[in-house]
Amino acid sequence: NRKVIYAKRPSGAPTTDCFALQDMPVPVPGDGQALIRNDYLSVDPYIRMRMEEKDSYAPVMAIGETLVGRTVGQVVISQIGGLAAGDWVVGRLGWQDFSVAGAADLQKIDLAAAPATAYLGALGSTGITAWVGLMTFGRPQAGETVLVSAASGAVGSVVGQLAKLQGCRAVGIAGGAAKCALVKEAFGFDDCVDYKSPRFAEELAAAVPAGVDVYFDNVGGPILDAVLPLLNNFARIPLCGLVSQYNATEPYGVKHLREIFNRRVTMRGFVLSDHKDLWPAATQALAQAYAAGKLAYRETIADGLENAPQAFIDMLDGRNVGKQLVRLRPA
Ligand code: NDP
Repeated sequence: NRKVIYAKRPSGAPTTDCFALQDMPVPVPGDGQALIRNDYLSVDPYIRMRMEEKDSYAPVMAIGETLVGRTVGQVVISQIGGLAAGDWVVGRLGWQDFSVAGAADLQKIDLAAAPATAYLGALGSTGITAWVGLMTFGRPQAGETVLVSAASGAVGSVVGQLAKLQGCRAVGIAGGAAKCALVKEAFGFDDCVDYKSPRFAEELAAAVPAGVDVYFDNVGGPILDAVLPLLNNFARIPLCGLVSQYNATEPYGVKHLREIFNRRVTMRGFVLSDHKDLWPAATQALAQAYAAGKLAYRETIADGLENAPQAFIDMLDGRNVGKQLVRLRPA
């Protein structure tokens, strides 16, 4: 059994020596616990915030701590009523091969309804983040324009599809022509603009001829600045994350704040864990859309726990398409 621990604080982009792989005994489940063999691990951008010395919404990670992450895996031994060896579960069980957990930290999943990995992505907390942010804080109305950054990524790709289901025009922002093509072809967005293009501002304006009513922001930074002048009066900005800033050593100063005032815009930071009351509705809506063939997803899968740090670094660098996962058990 192996685990990945936090070894060194980065300055700027993390490097693999910020992490270390350690052996540990396979834990033994006590009463009311189960032993899980983790098959897939989700590596998430917010971990980069936890690597800083200052608290974000998630607590600072201590050096030597095991990395936290959602996993999907199979029960090996169960001392929990209603859970049997062989059952598939999702949990927040860490960057490790085997984990022990109680019933409250495990959720049984149905592999007849969707592949196991989908429960770490579009049908799991990724999809729920998209749903809660868009539906609760974006409040999209049919006919409106919904713009989303990091549109080819895990959360962004779901946001655009939910916007289409609401009868909106969905426009994405992503890095590079290949990602933009995927956003339109695989996820059905009406348009997608490459923020790395030298003509980004013009191309963005052309993609939203009726202005922007909802800007679902995953990135912050200069892209947010480019969007602010395109907002309509009373636009909403669900602020889901600031991934362009997580590796930054100097914070980016937003220049067009005045547009928020002029256009009476509401900007709302939100964190998924504050909205557990909405999870059942979100889960149901996502499962329904998936069953109806209206929720596509993509995954980028790295192999082996030892490669989880590199997969995390690559995801922050935009090398992923869709949800970044790590396969822990050889296929
Ligand atoms: P993604 O799958 O979207 O992967 C991250 C993507 O960020 C990369 O693929 C890259 O895409 C983009 N990116 C990286 N650097 C930059 C940059 N400088 N400028 C613009 N884009 C950049 O990750 P997730 O879907 O897991 O997360 C997306 C956002 O949602 C993050 O900000 C994350 O923190 C947030 N989040 C928030 C939650 C909440 O509760 N509020 C819960 C889950 C996620 P590209 O190639 O297009 O640049």
